[in-house]
Amino acid sequence: MIYKVISKTEFTKFIDALAGSNSSFGPRQVDTDSRGEAVYQFRKVTSASEIAFDYTRTASSAKHFFLPFHEELSRFFFHGDEWNQQITYEANPTVLVGLRPCDISALNILDDVLLNGHFPSPYYLAKRKNTFVIGMDHLPLPDCFCKSMNHHIVSTGFNLFCSDIGDEYYLSINSSKAFSFLKEFVTRDPLDEENCRLAERRKLISESFQTEIDVTGLPSILDIEFDSPVWEKWGNKCLNCGSCAMVCPSCYCYSVEESFATNLKSATRQKRLYSCNLVDFAAVAGGHNFRPKNGDRLKYRYYHQHRGFAENANQQICVGCNRCGRTCLTGINPKDVINDLRMEKESCMTSVSSSPGKS
Ligand code: SF4
Ligand code: SF4
Repeated sequence: MIYKVISKTEFTKFIDALAGSNSSFGPRQVDTDSRGEAVYQFRKVTSASEIAFDYTRTASSAKHFFLPFHEELSRFFFHGDEWNQQITYEANPTVLVGLRPCDISALNILDDVLLNGHFPSPYYLAKRKNTFVIGMDHLPLPDCFCKSMNHHIVSTGFNLFCSDIGDEYYLSINSSKAFSFLKEFVTRDPLDEENCRLAERRKLISESFQTEIDVTGLPSILDIEFDSPVWEKWGNKCLNCGSCAMVCPSCYCYSVEESFATNLKSATRQKRLYSCNLVDFAAVAGGHNFRPKNGDRLKYRYYHQHRGFAENANQQICVGCNRCGRTCLTGINPKDVINDLRMEKESCMTSVSSSPGKS
């Protein structure tokens, strides 16, 4: 990693040059929600002036640049008794500006799943390699709990990361490409005083969290609470809409469908992002559904986010952005669900320790 400091005026010129000559996306206000709050999404930008650098959070995460809702995996062509398959990895060079640390952490988690497993995804790899990621720090929103998940600071997964230290950005340069781009602009080595401002900025961010979730030992609590009534309680509220998984930066479940052209001369295999909350997620041929109840499906989403992955790589995949909580129409959110589970466990511990038979 190389560290530099750049004035905000010079940084604007840098973004103007980058966005003006590359396919670039950054946070832009697209609407206002029912609470009167701005709704942001990553949208195409051609200059720094179009980017809402002070945005709160985007409604959808940046994962869709790497895992689109819908993606063609292959195309088949039939000629008499013969057929051939065409596979294209679409990966146009792209610049993403303004990702928050938790969103970059989610990309690192997707890297673990989709690149470091037994069957790396060439589709994901092509997009990840061709995307230039510029991260930016921010003061936490009232419902952010990324500090509880240890994702409020990120040190890998980006090309360039900008920390706001007043009139300048403190740059963490993590790729030769970023270093070469920046050579055309005025930057300098940080002074001691700027190193101190970076430390102060990080301290301020760390101390500004209003939401904390105690995730200590959560994987084992989830194991113990597999049959907890908490799942039915929250499951009864669930509409099975799947929105939580769609906006989540680290949910990656998908379905694969094949469809024929009406002239039967070609076919396509397509991937669609899916959600474990959808009614038919665990349905199999013959009509049996392994997760028929709302509570079962909700439970498995929480297991995947907070336990399933932990077994494989000692890492929960939730990064604490609370997009799912903001999106859910019935108010289902990680803080309340996890706190309920923990209270359930603690009430059980209280009753065990106060039981006359055990004293
Ligand atoms: S967004 Fe809420 S209602 Fe919709 S599937 Fe997720 S938990 Fe259920
Ligand atoms: S808070 Fe919700 S949306 Fe965000 S990473 Fe965790 S499960 Fe996904």
